[in-house]
Amino acid sequence: MDNFSQEHTELLQWYKNNGRHDLLWRNTKEIYHIYLSEIMLQQTQVNRVMSEYYPKFVEKFPTLEKLSTASLDEVLSYWSGLGYYSRARNLHKTAQKCPDRLPEDINELQKLPGIGRYTASAICSFGYHQEVSVVDTNIARVLKRYFATLDVSDIEVWESANKFLNTKEPTKHNLALMDLGSIVCTPTNPLCENCPLSISCLGKKNPELYTQKKKKEYESLELFYGIYGREDKIALVKTTGKMYKGMLELPTVDPIEENFIGQFKHSYTKYRLSVKLYKIDNLSDEVIWIDLDKIDSTPISSLTKKALKNFLL
Ligand code: SF4
Repeated sequence: MDNFSQEHTELLQWYKNNGRHDLLWRNTKEIYHIYLSEIMLQQTQVNRVMSEYYPKFVEKFPTLEKLSTASLDEVLSYWSGLGYYSRARNLHKTAQKCPDRLPEDINELQKLPGIGRYTASAICSFGYHQEVSVVDTNIARVLKRYFATLDVSDIEVWESANKFLNTKEPTKHNLALMDLGSIVCTPTNPLCENCPLSISCLGKKNPELYTQKKKKEYESLELFYGIYGREDKIALVKTTGKMYKGMLELPTVDPIEENFIGQFKHSYTKYRLSVKLYKIDNLSDEVIWIDLDKIDSTPISSLTKKALKNFLL
């Protein structure tokens, strides 16, 4: 006997009428495309992924095999602007490990670079239609409120998801919960009066109590870069630090006041950057010369692109 049969029925009915059925990755059977969308969506909003990055990436690298034979520079250039470039590097490594097909086993998937419990379960549920639960931030929020659980660990949220899973329609159930969290059970001011789970939801009297967020911590950094141009080319170097690893950026310099060109602010993951640019006349680093009109198709950090667009192009 299904303990939540009434709720499951209501939830699926709501999903049928209100779900985000037009998302490109919900209209494909290609497991790699589903996997790609999950990786892109980890840190980027649905609209940006859908309108810009996902179609462009799929067109350029339509299969795991094509992705596996591309150079990392090429992959990074198609990721440019999405940030969190380790995602692209891991995607590329995974394609090289499994150029034909991703494993169907949830544990095997988690052995691949950049695939954690969430992504593995999403691939198994949305791609292979297995009977597994999925927990992303939207689903976690719904479950914490629905079961009115305070200060629960991630493991306990996964246990709630397993308990609540609709084993007859696991894929649609997971997609429905995801959309419910995105559209109805929103972080602030959830629309409980429109919620298919409201009759039995234990947390609806004070939903926000169960999902209070810790304040994000940011780190401020001041960075100094040099601009050295020759005809229609600019000197760049490969990044070696944690930020934008493997991409091209302007060479770093010691600040000399009389060479100051300009400054701007930039955000990258948890960093809030104050960037100052200086003219340089000679170079000590090993540089790579890039044509200015090829900037958009080169794997250049978004910070460097912003600097060039504001001060050079
Ligand atoms: S009733 Fe309200 S708090 Fe409960 S799951 Fe629905 S939207 Fe969220």
